[in-house]
Amino acid sequence: MRRAAVVAALFAAATLTVFAQEPKKDEPKKDPEKKDPVKYKSNDRTRPRPKVIDPGTTSTADAPGKPPSDAVILFDGKDLSEWYRSGKKPDDADAVPTWKIENGYAELKGGGINSKQKFGNAQLHLEWATPKEVKGNDQGRGNSGLYIGNFGEVQILDSFENDTYPDGQASALYGKFPPLVNASRKPGEWQTYDIIAHLPKVDDAGKVTRPGIITVLHNGVVVHHAVEFGGKFGEYQLHIQDHGNPVRFRNIWVRKLFDYDVESTPPPEPKKK
Ligand code: MG
Repeated sequence: MRRAAVVAALFAAATLTVFAQEPKKDEPKKDPEKKDPVKYKSNDRTRPRPKVIDPGTTSTADAPGKPPSDAVILFDGKDLSEWYRSGKKPDDADAVPTWKIENGYAELKGGGINSKQKFGNAQLHLEWATPKEVKGNDQGRGNSGLYIGNFGEVQILDSFENDTYPDGQASALYGKFPPLVNASRKPGEWQTYDIIAHLPKVDDAGKVTRPGIITVLHNGVVVHHAVEFGGKFGEYQLHIQDHGNPVRFRNIWVRKLFDYDVESTPPPEPKKK
């Protein structure tokens, strides 16, 4: 009986979905000048073509991948010129990060760092490795973190067979949400974060119409999906935490995200007959 009710409910939902997607006949063409989320009709060939980019390559255990061509490169293994020491001003004489840079990675040393640039809606990529030689336990083992403004800290920690409080383990939204799964690699192995962050949407009257949203993938696995953050907040600097452990970093980049139809590449010229 219960199963029948579930099947009926699913069928009803499916039917509703079909009707919802059915295009209405005699629907007037949307006015592109009006603030309408759907500016174009289906299959409209006048619609801007999505910008053409080179997607780059994915990283391997041994080597970092090539970032997408439209990414802002924050660390390519050579220098930390896109960062300055936390607690300093970017132009201070002693603002240059003191981290050790060798073999294409930067190793945490002498304080956290802030990005010089600010970001809003963005796709963030960062790779990190905790020390191969395990020292300490709990929060004292390979601790660092990526701070993303009001979204808080995406925790970096050696969480491979290292128990701690769940909302403080690797890839937790620190103090708020534990990851959906623990997808940690072993100490010393390179790990990836891919993060999609959207600022709250605010209307002309200053009212938040959609909360801030963050999605996090750890080693390619979804660990937070569309987690909502209330309140009004804007662009942020990135910050990498020094928690006293020599965590390594490589291949850090950010892609700024735009709404549909904003960034485009012209369509090809029509072929002459
Ligand atoms: Mg931390």
